[in-house]
Order: sequence, then C-alpha cells, then structure tokens
Amino acid sequence: MGSRYGQRNAFPRKNGHGTFPVRKGVYGLDKLTLTQETPAQKAVNSLYIEFYRRLNASPQGTCPVDLASAFVNLCHAQSCGKCVPCRIGLGSLRETIDKIRSGDGTERDLDKLEAHATAIADSADCAIGIEAARMVLTGLRGFREDYEAHIRTGECIASFMGVPCSHSCPAHVDIPGYIALVKEGRYADAVRVIRKDNPFPSVCGLICEHPCEAHCRRKIVDDDAVNIRGLKRYAVDNAGTVPPPAPAASTGKTVAVVGAGPTGLTAAYFLSLMGHQVTIFEQNKKLGGMLRYGIPSYRLPDSYLDADIDIILSLGVKVEHSAIGKEFTLEQLREKYDAVYLAIGAHAGKTLGIEGENKRGIMSAVEMLHDVGEGEKIDFTGKDVVIVGGGNVAMDATRTSLRLGAKSVKCVYRRRRQDMTALAEEVDGAVAEGCELITLQAPLKVDYDEDENVTGLWVQPQIIGDVKNGRPAPRNADKAPELIRCDYIVVAIGQAIDSADFGKSGVPLRRDAMTADPTGAVPGMPGVFAGGDAVTRPATVIRAVEAGKIAANNIDHYLGFEHTITVDVDIPTAPISLKSACGRVEITEREVADRKGDFILMENPMSHEEAMQECSRCMRCDHYGYGNFRGERKRQW
Ligand SMILES: Cc1cc2nc3c(=O)[nH]c(=O)nc-3n(C[C@H](O)[C@H](O)[C@H](O)COP(=O)(O)OP(=O)(O)OC[C@H]3O[C@@H](n4cnc5c(N)ncnc54)[C@H](O)[C@@H]3O)c2cc1C
Ligand code: SF4
Ligand code: SF4
Repeated sequence: MGSRYGQRNAFPRKNGHGTFPVRKGVYGLDKLTLTQETPAQKAVNSLYIEFYRRLNASPQGTCPVDLASAFVNLCHAQSCGKCVPCRIGLGSLRETIDKIRSGDGTERDLDKLEAHATAIADSADCAIGIEAARMVLTGLRGFREDYEAHIRTGECIASFMGVPCSHSCPAHVDIPGYIALVKEGRYADAVRVIRKDNPFPSVCGLICEHPCEAHCRRKIVDDDAVNIRGLKRYAVDNAGTVPPPAPAASTGKTVAVVGAGPTGLTAAYFLSLMGHQVTIFEQNKKLGGMLRYGIPSYRLPDSYLDADIDIILSLGVKVEHSAIGKEFTLEQLREKYDAVYLAIGAHAGKTLGIEGENKRGIMSAVEMLHDVGEGEKIDFTGKDVVIVGGGNVAMDATRTSLRLGAKSVKCVYRRRRQDMTALAEEVDGAVAEGCELITLQAPLKVDYDEDENVTGLWVQPQIIGDVKNGRPAPRNADKAPELIRCDYIVVAIGQAIDSADFGKSGVPLRRDAMTADPTGAVPGMPGVFAGGDAVTRPATVIRAVEAGKIAANNIDHYLGFEHTITVDVDIPTAPISLKSACGRVEITEREVADRKGDFILMENPMSHEEAMQECSRCMRCDHYGYGNFRGERKRQW
C-alpha cells in the first residue's frame, strides 16, 4: 500500500528476527521521501486550472440543468465516501438530473430530486456532501422552470444571450466591434459605435466598473479578460472631437428630465436623437450628478466629463437650474410636458445613529465630496481624519482626505478587509497613499470636547462570524471598546434618496426609492418614468446609462413613435488566426509620491503598442460564436 509520503512499504519493514533489512538509497534512509509530482498529477492540475477558466468564462445563458449535472458529478468525485448520503446519494442525484436533462424525466423525478437533496443536506457527515446537496436545492428553487421545460418539451429554455462581453455590459455596447476599429486605427468610428448605446465613452473609459469583462471568453485562453475599459479610453483619447449623428426630424413632443446625472443625460441624448425636445431640470450649478459632485477629479477630470456632456447638449437639449419638488412641482411639469423622466439619483448621506453624531467635525462622504466637486475644498492640513465605511465611496473619501492635507487618515470598517465592497485596487491604492485600514471595529459613540468639537471615535471590536446572506457577518467581540483619536469623522456607509416631495406628488416609494417597472414607467402615472440610482439605489454609472437608454426607448413609444437608434460604421472582418496565450495589459497609475498630493488624473493611458496587443487578444466572439451565442451583433435598438 502506498502513502502520501512515498512508497513506504516498497521494502520489507522487518525480517523474521526482528532486525531491519538493508535499505536501498544512498544512506538507506528512505522511510520518508519528498513528494514528487507525477506527470499525471501535473496534467490533472493543469486541467483543473483549465476547468476553472472555462467555468469562469461561462457565458450567461448556459443550460442550468446541464451545469447542475456537471456540478454534482464534480462533487461526487470529491466525496471521501465515508458516509452513505454523500457516496450513494450524490450519484443518485446526478442520475435523476441526467434523466430530466435528456428529456426522460417526469414531475415525480423533480419531487424525488428535491426529497433526496433535502435528505442529503440533512444527513451527510460533512460539508462536502451537505454543500453539494444545498447547491442542487438552490438550483431547484432558482431555475425550476428550466427543469420543468426539460420534462415537458425535452428542450432547454436557456435563452440566447449574444456576445458575452456585450451582453454583460448593461448598455450592451458592441465591444468586439469597437475593439476591431481601434485595432485599425479608426478611433472616431470606435467612439461612434460606443455612442450608439452609451453617450458616455469618455467617462466610462475611465471609471466604468466594467462588468463586461466578467464573462470575457479570453479568460479561457490565459485567465484574463481583455482590458475593455482601457481600450475605450484609448479610443476616446485618440479620436478627437466626434460630432453626434444628426437627430431625426422634430416630433413636436416635449420631455422634461429631472436631474442631470448619467441617467438623465443619457435619456436626454437618445430622446433628442429621436427628434423630441428635451429640457433638463437640475438643482446643481453644473451638470453631471455624481460624476461631477461625487467621483473625485483624480479619477475623472472635468475635461473628460465635459467632453461627453458637450456632445449631448449639442443636440439642442435645454437646461434649467431649479429643484423640482421645491421650485416647481411634478404636477406642473406633467401639465407642461408630454412626458417626464425622474432621474434624481441618491444624494443624501446615511447616518450612523450613534451618540454624539451631531457634533462639529462629522460629515457625510457625499457632502464632503460634493463640496470638493464645487471647488470648496475643506482644509484638513495637519488633521487626523477617520472615514467610516468599506465601499468605493469610502475609498474616494479616504484618498480625497489625504489630498486635502490630512496628517493621518484611518478607514474604520466593521468587517474584514476581504469583505470590503470597494474594488480591491481602490483599497490597495488608498493604502499605498498612506491610509491605515482599521478593520473589525464598529462605531460606538463620538468623543468630543466641551466646545462640541469631535476628538475621537469610540469603537467596539468585532469578531467575524456566521455567513448571512452570502457574507460573513461580524458581531461584538469579548473585548473592551477602544478610542481612535481624530479631528474629523467622515461617514461613508451609503446614500439615501431625497424623494419625499415626489412621494407627495403620487410617485410610489419603497422606503425612499422610487418605484418603476422594467420599462422605466412609474405605475399609475401615465407619462412619468423614473430610473437610475433613484430607483435601483446607489449603483454604477453604466447601470444609470442603461436605465436612461431604456427610458428613452419607452418614452418614445409612449409618445407614439418607433424610432430606432443605429450607427453607420462598417466593422472590420474578423481575422482567421486567433491566438496564443498572452498576458493582459493592465492600466498603471502615476507614482504614489507624485499623485497623492494632487487632484490630477491618476491613471496612465495605454501606449500604442499596449493598445494594439490588447486589441489582438479579443477573440471576436461576434464572429466566432457557438452554442447559445452565435456571434450576431445588434445593429440597432
Ligand atoms: C463618491 C462616488 C464614487 C463613485 N464612483 C463610481 C465609479 O467609479 N464607477 C461607477 O460606475 N459608479 C460610481 N459611482 C456611482 C455613480 O456615480 C452613480 O451610480 C450614478 O451617478 C447614478 O446616476 P444617476 O443619474 O441616477 O444619479 P446622479 O448621478 O446622482 O444624478 C442625479 C442628479 O439629479 C439632480 N437632482 C436631484 N434631485 C433633484 C431635484 N429635486 N430637482 C432637480 N435636480 C435634482 C442631482 O443634483 C444630480 O445632478 C460613484 C458614486 C459616488 C457617490
Ligand atoms: S461601458 Fe463599461 S461595461 Fe460597457 S463596455 Fe464599456 S467598460 Fe464595459
Ligand atoms: S474575447 Fe473579445 S468579443 Fe469575446 S468576450 Fe472578450 S472582449 Fe468580448
């Protein structure tokens, strides 16, 4: 019998007289030997990596029943076999799933599957079997109709999802199309192609969270998605000013848009292209919403934002600076305009709800970043600042405080670093610039002096605990509270929606969020639409763009039209030879010492050489499609 330390029993242990025989090996001491990876193990390990990449790059729309079968098969192979529910039960689950998948199953098989999975989850000895069965149950609840369709018709209803990157971009930008154009040096055409779906190419080239990269098929080859966002910036930087297409003939219809953030401006852009007269009502002095008054200019300089906004306004969009709900009511807008789009975002800071929160020196992150966006920079020179929160807004507040001259910036978070919702690169960047992360500490109360100025934040140490809603939840640790001395506390724990006035005018609210159906229409209010952060709660720029695009489309229908948005650009044909593995070009930043004291753009652009190499990593899934995505592009919407 072998052992994991080598072939221990290859030689006899003792002879008949109780002495050891002469051993082989240089010193005869080969009782333990170093583990050697056999060629077979090497190959299996590389297949695991390959398998992981394929899973990671699985396009949405893959048959979930098929996936469940493969998953249970894998779990079964990982079973140690010591308990019957896992050893026998998982095999039986797989057989039932396969029967259903091949069209031979019945409703009774579905009940059997559920009963067996529940029994395994309740009785397996360890988490290997329990988790496998739970995943089957999750699938049964999540995609039961797929199982039922296999039983009823023997067919899969997993729908056609198109090119993976374009499908994952909420605005459905034609990504392989614009990458192919960048590769040919046709940068202005690339910008035109992007604008067909997203009028913010300059903004998104810098700060989009690029969900499009999640399912990029390039990951199959070398584990890294194409740098789609970086190539967007390269196109924009090299295109010069690209005028918008000519709008359709005037329809004589008028639309009021409340709020000039990305969703309001997107709706205004597409509605104007359709020939409607749009007026934007904006309460701030300048347009852009959180793009101008939230995201700091070291990540998104005004020049990039203004480039996109200028194109939108050039279509004849009118702007009035007033706060709807205060200066005009929604009812007045409804009387004067044929349709209204509510795009007010989420601007109010949430509070901690702890003792002393009203003292001098406490502010919300959105309030602080808004002031910086207005050009009214708070002077933190020589001060100790504490930021509370672990999301991207907290990181922006942290890095901005450092740039405002703070002596020290500590970011206090009640979970662990790996639980932070901020992008890992944002956290790394903040730490590199000098921020100290203080994790597993929950704010308890504010410490202040007799003049009511903040002097510190009391925190309660936490211990990480059970997973709740997919995340390990912290609870109070058996440790005494601690005091973190500071002069300012910036609270970055989320944003609320200032929607009360709209609620009074009849817009249905879910707590503070506006209600709109998937078309953007507000129920019970014909001609009123809503979208962006005000409906979804704080999300991302590209989700706001998606909402604006959908609202424009449906407002157009509501007004009695069927306009289409298209772009007249030929996409280069896909090359035949595609590709050996090649690393992804990552975007670099200016050196820490150079960047941490200013608000100048932090990211370096790609070089021409880098951009061309990155373009050539795109596998042109618009042409080389298969299975449930066949590589067709949407030429219009
Ligand atoms: C600090 C910070 C950093 C972020 N970083 C990123 C990032 O890197 N990447 C990313 O994708 N997303 C990021 N986001 C999120 C992103 O900015 C928002 O999801 C997006 O701006 C939402 O767009 P919106 O149009 O719905 O709302 P907003 O951008 O908030 O715009 C709403 C507009 O409506 C106006 N308004 C409100 N009420 C009224 C009224 N009653 N009358 C008239 N006008 C009104 C507001 O003044 C504002 O201009 C960040 C957000 C913040 C706060
Ligand atoms: S807008 Fe964002 S999600 Fe869409 S293609 Fe560009 S980087 Fe990707
Ligand atoms: S390889 Fe190209 S076309 Fe395919 S998913 Fe990635 S970016 Fe999109």
